[in-house]
Amino acid sequence: MSNTNLHETFGCHVFNDTVMRERLPKATYLDLKHSIDEGSPLASGTAEIVANAMKDWALENGATHYTHWFQPLNGFTAEKHDSFLILSKEGRALTEFSGKALVKGESDASSFPSGGLRATFEARGYTAWDCTSPAFLKEDSSGLTLCIPTAFCSYNGEALDKKTPLLRSVEAVSKQAVRVLRLFGDTETNRVQVSCGAEQEYFLVDKDMFKKRADLMFTGRTLLGAKPPKTQEMDDHYFGTLKERVSAYMTELDSALWKVGVPSKTKHNEAAPAQHELAPIFEMVNVACDHNQITMELMRKIADHHNMVCLLHEKPFAGLNGSGKHDNWSLSTSGGVNLLNPGKTPRENAQFLVFLCAVISAIDTHAALIRASAANAGNDYRLGAQEAPPAIISIFLGDELTDILEQLETGEEHETMQGGVLDTGVPSLPNLSLDTTDRNRTSPFAFTGNKFEFRMVPSSASIAGPNTVLNTIVADALSNIADRLEGAADFDKELNELLAELIKKHKRIIFNGNGYGEEWVAEAKRRGLPNINNSAESYAAFISPESVAVFEKHHVYSETELRSRYEIKLEKYSKIVGIEARTLLMMLNSQIVPACTKFAGQTAQSIAQIKASGVMCDTQAIEEVLRKTTSGISSLVKGMKKLERAVEKFEKFGDDFESQARFARDSIVSVMNEVRKYADELEVIVGKEYWPIPTYSDLIYSV
Ligand code: ADP
Ligand code: MG
Repeated sequence: MSNTNLHETFGCHVFNDTVMRERLPKATYLDLKHSIDEGSPLASGTAEIVANAMKDWALENGATHYTHWFQPLNGFTAEKHDSFLILSKEGRALTEFSGKALVKGESDASSFPSGGLRATFEARGYTAWDCTSPAFLKEDSSGLTLCIPTAFCSYNGEALDKKTPLLRSVEAVSKQAVRVLRLFGDTETNRVQVSCGAEQEYFLVDKDMFKKRADLMFTGRTLLGAKPPKTQEMDDHYFGTLKERVSAYMTELDSALWKVGVPSKTKHNEAAPAQHELAPIFEMVNVACDHNQITMELMRKIADHHNMVCLLHEKPFAGLNGSGKHDNWSLSTSGGVNLLNPGKTPRENAQFLVFLCAVISAIDTHAALIRASAANAGNDYRLGAQEAPPAIISIFLGDELTDILEQLETGEEHETMQGGVLDTGVPSLPNLSLDTTDRNRTSPFAFTGNKFEFRMVPSSASIAGPNTVLNTIVADALSNIADRLEGAADFDKELNELLAELIKKHKRIIFNGNGYGEEWVAEAKRRGLPNINNSAESYAAFISPESVAVFEKHHVYSETELRSRYEIKLEKYSKIVGIEARTLLMMLNSQIVPACTKFAGQTAQSIAQIKASGVMCDTQAIEEVLRKTTSGISSLVKGMKKLERAVEKFEKFGDDFESQARFARDSIVSVMNEVRKYADELEVIVGKEYWPIPTYSDLIYSV
């Protein structure tokens, strides 16, 4: 039984505004607050005082160490712990945490992937405090550690992490959004924030079962396994009553998240058995990104306390729903006004339409890039698999809003559909009806009333990448709009023309129908929308001339930084496929083939025994089982030989990561799928007592 007091627990391990206000001299507090709000650098004197207060607070809570906490390009978080200990001349223990140590760290970063950004002779990486994300105390059974969220760069300032580009992209979109706001008479707002709420899906399986499956241990997903007779067809798991073991896990998880200030809000069972979801309250995107990393880390850690394992893979089980991360995204002013919320006044509504059209044009112009931002090897098994959005990027707006845009495009006012009226106040724009209650779960990018929900994002990945892309391309669309309207002689006329043009040009990206249907694939092709169904191919969008131009223009990534990401992503893809292929071969060689052989041998013996009994019996059916088993084994072994040969070739590619990824995609993934089919067919023939690993039924009903 939990006795968490939400008021006391929430944020008790965060050096948050309340703690700062309490512990810092007023002038220091105001300086820090200014840096946080404006994103400006902290003066060294201020840093010194803040560091000292932070140290006292951490020590009082029982911490002995601090670490700069950062997000290198391997997709995880990294930390290197230093104690607060210093020695007096007499050798007595004293504690120290300087402003310099708070603001900047230095670490030998040679083992992190850098995609060639950092030559080995310059292996150092530098971490710099992102004071917009608060420091927190990380707790485990060994105690507490003060964690300082930081950005991670090379000596010459190239970003070696996921956070730096994210922060740069927030600056970019803020700058351009403010330009647009000025056009609508807003003279106050000087920053626009990106809000983000990342819903996280995950699976829980029993740890004892997990340990018996090398595939789950090495790759996070099952590489073989026949579909059980019942999975999710009865829809009985979705939003179902939480099992006590799961509920105890979620309670501990919530409590741990609340302590470090992660605003975990909703928890429920998802569609597939053993699948669950956690949704937080939305926050500023860089904080949401940090918090999502913490959430994933705690999800894994706390599962262990309950003898379970949390699977964050996009597709742990073939044939069952996979896991994603719904990235809810919106823009709001420093004053807290959501710019994707249709407003109350005509001016606000016209402004809303500008932001809406900016997003539409951004997504259409950079569809391949936004697709690539949500790509990873695991997502290849999820996207388009009848339970997740397809690999085609489109936007759902709902019928009403689409109708409104049509009127804007044609300039013809007609009877609008039911719903509230959206008064634009621009004489040439029709007054518009609006009802945003309708939802479409099959769209990869849906407008849901006052935010967009990007549903393609992979469950295991950091949300930094997709948001960096989204912020940048929207910044670019806003910048183009501002360029045009700032010089307009007649603002209303120019606005009207511009919106009509944008809609005409980009409306092909709007699709309100069933995204899971076959017809959509054909229709999207007719519309000229890209359909890139595997991650290896999608990554090229990062280095296309258009992408490089937009990232460089808004100072989010340099071309060198982009090329490094491209290389890392392709290498990672290849590595994952390589590990999967080797794991599959190992399991087949050492477990599955011997088990099937044993079963065949015993069946043969049984047939011989029955025949020898002298009783006249019909053994044909049993002989058929034997035949099926042995022919299954030979198909399987043939497939394994093919896979072995492919893996041998794959390992000889050396530094040519592009060709290696292509080979992995074309010549390994398909053979793995083929081999798996033979093994899965054998699984249903071979007796359960012979099958050497837990089955899908064992795993998905294990908790
Ligand atoms: P669902 O998608 O399950 O219907 P909701 O629409 O209630 O759920 O919200 C899903 C997520 O979107 C939550 O994490 C929520 O905090 C977040 N969210 C709500 N409003 C915004 C917003 N303006 N900007 C970004 N995220 C938001
Ligand atoms: Mg959602």
